Amino acid sequence: MSKRDYYEILGVGRDATDQQIKSAYRKLALKYHPDRNPGDHKAEEAFKEAAEAYAIISDTDKRSAYDRFGHAGVSGAGAGGFDPNAFAGFEDIFGNLGDLFGFGEMFGGRRRRGGPQRGADLRYDLEISFEEAFTGTETPLQIPREETCETCSGSGAAAGTSPETCGHCRGTGQQRFQQGFLTVARPCPTCRGTGRVIAKPCQACRGAGRIGRERKITAKIPAGIATGQRLRLYGEGEHGSAGGPPGDLYVVVHVQEHQFFQRDGDDLYCEMPVSFPTLALGGEMHVPTLAGDEEIRIPAGTQPGARFKVKGKGMPNVSGRGTGDLFAIVRVSVPKKITREQKHLLEELARTLPEERIDGAPGDGTEKPFFEKVKDIFG
Ligand SMILES: [Zn+2]
Ligand SMILES: [Zn+2]
Repeated sequence: MSKRDYYEILGVGRDATDQQIKSAYRKLALKYHPDRNPGDHKAEEAFKEAAEAYAIISDTDKRSAYDRFGHAGVSGAGAGGFDPNAFAGFEDIFGNLGDLFGFGEMFGGRRRRGGPQRGADLRYDLEISFEEAFTGTETPLQIPREETCETCSGSGAAAGTSPETCGHCRGTGQQRFQQGFLTVARPCPTCRGTGRVIAKPCQACRGAGRIGRERKITAKIPAGIATGQRLRLYGEGEHGSAGGPPGDLYVVVHVQEHQFFQRDGDDLYCEMPVSFPTLALGGEMHVPTLAGDEEIRIPAGTQPGARFKVKGKGMPNVSGRGTGDLFAIVRVSVPKKITREQKHLLEELARTLPEERIDGAPGDGTEKPFFEKVKDIFG
């Protein structure tokens, strides 16, 4: 398969300016970023293709070699070939998607005050029920955040006007003055370092360029999520300023405690009260789970504290790696009130029961009555 033309990939003309190339690449990177297209192989390819094209076309030397000789001019290690796998660690290199944009340093310029700035990240604390954590849920969120003012498109200037170059600092945003041998630069007080002043502010945002809004978005909470885990919603933070990209929204999840189940990782634990006769004789125990009741056979002579595993009835793993187990721990239930007949039966039973014994197998001579054993222990 022949390689696609780099200009074609970026969707720009051969005479495109650096700015046009940058913005074309930003759009593609946003659209095809692997974090936004999980599991989508085509998107991943498109993302790498765009990154490769951008790496060549944004570099003056490589671009001119490419213009003259095509792919042959820039392929091979000698000519500074581009390894798409170098971008496999994209997230690590760039920190996050937002960092890609508006960061002059990264693209060879210097960031200036008042230049494009990435919007702030937001945090939202979300409480969900234990059951919702089990099934996963979609929940609407009301996010108060700063958005770009539509009236002035974020410039802060009234309709028909635009911000003017600051006369005080001539647009540099800095005020320089001599202090001894040193020249000290300070942000210009007139334009507060932006280099521009707004003569007639936009009425909608009073010149701020931004407006506080409540925004409704839906967060998909995956099954198996646990307290303290967070979801990152790309681009749902505050809007950037002066055309900068938006920040991200972090949804920090808090899962309510359950009355019956305790959670440990993906496993669940519960205590099951069982009557003395059932423990002694063996029988069935109904164990409630988050997905219907389970019936468990318990053998005759089951002791309090015995643990029974119900396989696969714990929490689903949040990363999709299987499901935890449920452990039912047996407790003895003792009735608080009994009838006269029950009392009689229990007294009959008590008379026939052997002394409480510990250690050794019954009848092998090593067992002793419990109180004698205790005396041994205390000397
Ligand atoms: Zn405005
Ligand atoms: Zn100024």
